[in-house]
Amino acid sequence: METLLLNEGQIDIASQLIIDGEVVGIPTETVYGLGADASNENAVRKIFSAKGRPADNPLIVHLADFSEAVRYTTYIPELAYRLAEKFCPGALTMVLPKNDRIPSVTSGGLDTVAIRVPAHPVMHRIIELSGKPISAPSANISGYPSPTTAQHVMRDMNGRISAVIDGGQSEFGVESTVISFENENTVRILRPGCVTEKMLMTVCGNVIVDKAVLSGLEKDEKASSPGMKYKHYSPKADIIMIESDLDGFIKYVGENYGDGVYSLIFDGDTENFPYRYMTYGADSLQQAHQVFQKLRELDDINARKVYVRSPEPIGVGLAVYNRLIRSAGFEVIRL
Ligand code: AMP
Ligand code: MG
Repeated sequence: METLLLNEGQIDIASQLIIDGEVVGIPTETVYGLGADASNENAVRKIFSAKGRPADNPLIVHLADFSEAVRYTTYIPELAYRLAEKFCPGALTMVLPKNDRIPSVTSGGLDTVAIRVPAHPVMHRIIELSGKPISAPSANISGYPSPTTAQHVMRDMNGRISAVIDGGQSEFGVESTVISFENENTVRILRPGCVTEKMLMTVCGNVIVDKAVLSGLEKDEKASSPGMKYKHYSPKADIIMIESDLDGFIKYVGENYGDGVYSLIFDGDTENFPYRYMTYGADSLQQAHQVFQKLRELDDINARKVYVRSPEPIGVGLAVYNRLIRSAGFEVIRL
């Protein structure tokens, strides 16, 4: 199958492909998604096979408006409506009890479904034009860094899906914040994103950050979200996080330097930095925007080992930290 590269003027072609049960790479404000009709089992199976995604890792279902969530769920807490008022459309995904309109393949066999209303005009228009709920996991080969440009999607998916729409670079660069509901007042962050704990606290009485956001699961520990179990976001290069000030970081890299060793550092670190490096931004928002792109670029230049300056795990930095520790397979050096 040849994968068509479409432009934003060809949204009607993409919508028709979705109606026909095909898979299309679609830009969103978080990362690029692999979109297909969430209510069509065969179409959803094509997503899993294109990505090589484990069948028990459920897909997020994207809707044009949160008011449509009632069509796919059995219960929506009042708190969800209040969150939707503030954060939909946007980068917030809410896990809710599902009904039979969502096939079990889409929800990875769970009795819940994760729902998001994306803000990106291209994704939004495709949902509207096709009239379908669209499941769209990140458009990368499973385990590899998420794609933030149409070219990244082409690299991973050429020949595996029908088309990709080029909508430029994703604004946020990391996937949505995924939450579940603990009670009428409290949500649990299963995956951090650009809708931060502090932002959620403006609407919720209490916000719990799941333990697995910051560390690996213990052996035999049950995941609150299946995605927590899997190796994720990893380029070919060996990623190692270093929690340290700049002097300690430089000293450590110096002691462990060699062929193919690179550092991924902050924009402000470069003056007199003595070793091969790439930068990934000056603040958390910039780091979120660039982190996956930089991990891919490090593979392009055949980096073998990459020492990463660890971001502070607060605000959007929590999302960046969460992606990086997974890409490092939880290999963190604290100096
Ligand atoms: P991606 O599709 O790559 O954006 O990843 C979606 C994330 O949301 C994965 O980590 C999933 O495990 C998680 N997720 C999707 N649906 C559910 C659900 N029903 N319950 C808990 N987590 C979910
Ligand atoms: Mg993903």
